[in-house]
Amino acid sequence: METLRTENLIKRFGDLEVLKGIDLSIRRGETVVVLGASGSGKSTMLRCLNFLETPTAGKIYIEGKLIGRHEGDTVTYSASELNKVRAKAGMVFQQFNLFPHLTVEENVTLGPMRVRKMERTQARLLAARCLDRVGLVQKAQSYPAQLSGGQQQRVAIARALAMEPSVVLFDEPTSALDPELVGEVLLAMRQLTEDGTTMVVVTHELGFAYNVASRVVFLHEGRIHEEGPPREILVSPRTERMREFLRSHSLFRIPEPSARNDGQSEAPAERQQRTNPRSAECNIPE
Ligand code: ADP
Ligand code: MG
Repeated sequence: METLRTENLIKRFGDLEVLKGIDLSIRRGETVVVLGASGSGKSTMLRCLNFLETPTAGKIYIEGKLIGRHEGDTVTYSASELNKVRAKAGMVFQQFNLFPHLTVEENVTLGPMRVRKMERTQARLLAARCLDRVGLVQKAQSYPAQLSGGQQQRVAIARALAMEPSVVLFDEPTSALDPELVGEVLLAMRQLTEDGTTMVVVTHELGFAYNVASRVVFLHEGRIHEEGPPREILVSPRTERMREFLRSHSLFRIPEPSARNDGQSEAPAERQQRTNPRSAECNIPE
């Protein structure tokens, strides 16, 4: 069953064509990691998927349903339809944007009560379940300022889950965190994957991609340049662009095909560069 599908998705800002025809298909329960250099269009793609940006052209289907009324080249989107789409495609941002004057529980129940018109009692039960999924039930009555950045981001994830979306879109969810807090957020995300949550994750955490993703998509200059299972694409990238991208990510050095066979022992620095992708440096426990 396909949760999300795009056909020839194009997005332009004035003369700048950022997405040049993206064909993407996400099946239910998949965790797709999107990689790409800064400026390659990753955020724009996610923002189009939940219509924070209106696509310039192309089609987006959510659970088999084509979004918008397509008549020839003209597409019209109704506000009520887009509100439904935004609820179905939950978004988690780099900046968590919790309301500082509301408790954790109130932050999580807000969407279900306002948008889904849920009763408070029911919304609180739902919030407790969602907070439990990110390991934070005991913080329900705390305020965001009383939490670490990692905990705040987990609350933001619980807030997205509380809308019971079909797919959760993550845009660099750990990029704003201190390094020691990254692991707890990735671990919470990994648990969601194991629970069968459908996710699209833009991240530079290649260890997460390697260990958790069902598929990796590499975006380059507004196109899907390469895609495949993480243990193929990250270990044996087919294109030079992807190899270059992986080389620039110091936490994930892919071993070069072994050329040395001269009996000399390698220097420690070289050995360091050949870090096994499964190693602890990948920031996510096996
Ligand atoms: P990434 O997330 O991969 O770093 P983005 O999707 O944020 O890339 O941006 C891709 C390109 O689109 C960049 O050149 C960026 O400047 C441009 N861009 C993004 N949003 C806008 C916008 N609202 N208006 C104009 N240009 C934009
Ligand atoms: Mg971005």
